[in-house]
Amino acid sequence: MTDLSLPTPAPATKAMTVPLLDLKAQYQTLKAEVLPVIEAVCESQGFILGPYVRELEAKVAAYSGAAHGIGVSSGTDALLLALMALNIGPGDEVITSPYSFFATAGTVARLGARPVFVDIDPLTYNLSAPSVQQFIDESCDFEGGVLRNRRTGGRVRVLMPVHLYGQCADMSALMSIAQANNLKVIEDAAQAIGSEHQGARAGSFGDIGCFSFFPSKNLGAFGDAGLCTARDPELAAHLGILRVHGGAPKYYHSFIGGNFRIDELQAAILCVKLAHLDAWSEARARNAASYNAAFAARGLSSTVTTPYAVPGSRHIYNQYVIRVPFRDQLKQYLQDSGIGCEIYYPVPLHQQACFASLGYQTGDCPHAEAAALQTLALPAYPELMAEQQAYVVDTISRFYA
Ligand SMILES: *Cc1c(COP(=O)(O)O)cnc(C)c1O
Repeated sequence: MTDLSLPTPAPATKAMTVPLLDLKAQYQTLKAEVLPVIEAVCESQGFILGPYVRELEAKVAAYSGAAHGIGVSSGTDALLLALMALNIGPGDEVITSPYSFFATAGTVARLGARPVFVDIDPLTYNLSAPSVQQFIDESCDFEGGVLRNRRTGGRVRVLMPVHLYGQCADMSALMSIAQANNLKVIEDAAQAIGSEHQGARAGSFGDIGCFSFFPSKNLGAFGDAGLCTARDPELAAHLGILRVHGGAPKYYHSFIGGNFRIDELQAAILCVKLAHLDAWSEARARNAASYNAAFAARGLSSTVTTPYAVPGSRHIYNQYVIRVPFRDQLKQYLQDSGIGCEIYYPVPLHQQACFASLGYQTGDCPHAEAAALQTLALPAYPELMAEQQAYVVDTISRFYA
């Protein structure tokens, strides 16, 4: 798709503003519920690993169908802690998606391990199970329970799928590949709390699930926060120990951990917000459905590719992402028209400058590279009003007229 023959659209008119996300609108509906728990924590002056942390851990684990929950300082730290708990380091490799937020691969590299990027499925933008299988078949040897990357000599130890935009990767296929090749599975579920694949939820499939409560996620804190889920009680206990510098008992260190604690204040706020999560995710899904219907009604179906929702899955639409020609020009036009929109993500991870030493070339992950040039996230937050949504659709339709 080239941008050379761009037709000149009518000049943008700022009839109204539509932010990509409106946290102030949500806060107004929550204020009366949230301020008392903030005050309760302040009165207690118990800011570290208190009762709200334990409540949040139990509730998110139950919500996600996972046995254990370990509250942590961010989604990034959830990933880092998960990798540390599986003892990932130099000489180890982690198969993951090239089309994700930086933390997915950044955490692997920070531990001295190597991220191995395998292309995405072009419909869902999630790590492609057939491509993972193809990488293993063509590039690895499996001997004595060890999967070795023939080119690098590294030991492939973890499969880390990302549930992008709020839709689960094909976990049944990915889990069988992991089992057959003795790989641990870490789910990057940062964007996907409550999303379902074949009736099971994000964070319940792998050894460890990693959630983010960054303010823009469906369940957002008032700052940074995250959580790991785990199925195995020993692994869960190990995550809990590494969260406090690896000391167990306190001041006695058999392991080197870090400070990965979630704040009690954030946990208290998240306990309040969790009760609203399903209503918010349903509102996002309704907004997604009405965008889909509106683009079809405007005859834009062949121009605007709407998100593909896997049949029988539950997509929570952390992002509503369309795929369009003249993407960069449309983005500018929407912004000039007062409409917030964003590219998630403009540079695939295998093409990031900091990963040049891994030796990837343009063309290595063609579906991720194409997505990076064509995708655009539109406002779909729960409080989005019908007239705002109509304005977004009108503006897009004017651009392509
Ligand atoms: C948000 C996000 C993270 C990181 O979470 P933080 O809480 O911002 O550290 C990791 N992976 C993905 C896919 C994300 O969207």
